[in-house]
Amino acid sequence: MARRLIYAANWKMNHGPTAARSFAQRFLELTRPVEGRELWFFPPIISVAGVAEVFRSRPDISVGAQNAHWELKGAFTGEISVTMAMETGARTMLIGHSERRHLFGETDDQVARKTVTTLRAGLIPLVCVGETLAEREGGRTEQVVLRQMTAVLDRVANEDWERIVLAYEPVWAIGTGKNATPDDAAQVHELIRFEVSRRGVNVRVPILYGGSVNAGNVLSLLERPELDGVLVGGASLDPDGWAELVGF
Ligand code: PEP
Repeated sequence: MARRLIYAANWKMNHGPTAARSFAQRFLELTRPVEGRELWFFPPIISVAGVAEVFRSRPDISVGAQNAHWELKGAFTGEISVTMAMETGARTMLIGHSERRHLFGETDDQVARKTVTTLRAGLIPLVCVGETLAEREGGRTEQVVLRQMTAVLDRVANEDWERIVLAYEPVWAIGTGKNATPDDAAQVHELIRFEVSRRGVNVRVPILYGGSVNAGNVLSLLERPELDGVLVGGASLDPDGWAELVGF
């Protein structure tokens, strides 16, 4: 069986409905399904329906939302729920991205609650963890990643881990042009896997690496069997570049 690899594109606050559709149409022309390869897209929520519609003939492509509230309804102005995201075409949910944690103050417990709500609704969560530069330089990478993981492990039932995907994204590597070496990434992926299995979860949870991945460094990262794919921001914004990065 081919190795399962996930290439996830996080568009952040880029590509409104018109630009997102054009991207998807161009990307369809450029790529073909490849066995074992999954392509995940996280457009801004307002563009999800259009992108999902353009990609409807491609079962290797999933479209997801970048964020949702942990409650399913209520007085939360400006928020959307997981079920609303699903209704618009989302099948996956990005949770705990470092920009949510550090720019919008999302806590470990909120990340864990969003993960549970996403699982209950039947979507696949892609849960991000990772340390800041100060934490890495202070020798606290392990402690921080384990703290973030513990919050999720405390709330998610063991049997639900079959439907979770994780991403290790060192904050210092996101959008900075500096990326972790394949060894650095593999080491943290192993740490995460060890912790998940120490807590009694018997499945091999896929873990993506994210942080300044581009067409020039993706192959050396994915040579490491500890990595199950990549989560990419900047280099996923142009359809030709993204098609090249994923191998067409
Ligand atoms: C991201 O947004 O998750 C990310 C990894 O961004 P970039 O690839 O631009 O570093």
